[in-house]
Amino acid sequence: MKLDSYIDAGTLASVEFANRLTPGYANGKPVAETDVLQAVREVVAIDPPSVAAVSEKDEDGFVALAKRLRAIFVGIDGGHIDEAAELLNTILSEHPATPYLAKEEGVWHLHHHPSDAAILPMWTAICAEGLARMIGTQNAHRLGICMAENCDRVFADTSKNATRRFCSSACQNRIKTAAFRARKRTAAVTENKP
Ligand SMILES: [Zn+2]
Repeated sequence: MKLDSYIDAGTLASVEFANRLTPGYANGKPVAETDVLQAVREVVAIDPPSVAAVSEKDEDGFVALAKRLRAIFVGIDGGHIDEAAELLNTILSEHPATPYLAKEEGVWHLHHHPSDAAILPMWTAICAEGLARMIGTQNAHRLGICMAENCDRVFADTSKNATRRFCSSACQNRIKTAAFRARKRTAAVTENKP
């Protein structure tokens, strides 16, 4: 998967945590209760050691993290970038990253943390740093909340023109269909007029 450089794994994980682990509406329906542990494992799947390290004792912490991450999207969507930045600074100061070089199969890779770092502070730092980079590179407008009715899920816009308004193509299609029906109704009313 090729990603634009300003949207990194931390930003994408932030979207996933916020959407999977906070209550609300998704694509017209209330968000169903989820298996937190399973959801976290799926979100951190890009880093296999993280998947293995997630355990039941981290559940509440990841749910709390998801809530804080969502608050940042809500703030930015509402035009409160200063507040979102302050919130991120707080999280970053609580969970500083520890850049660390690790040799894997003979090749050096730069990681945010040593491989034995605790899973929750590590992913907190990764997510916060990703979102902070969006603000710090003047890309905050790419973080938003779905415009569709009965949906409040968040998204990170990777489109070239930054014109995304929906969390998913499902929501986009739902709104398109509703608009099409509304137009058809209006047309029918107009045609029937004497
Ligand atoms: Zn949506």
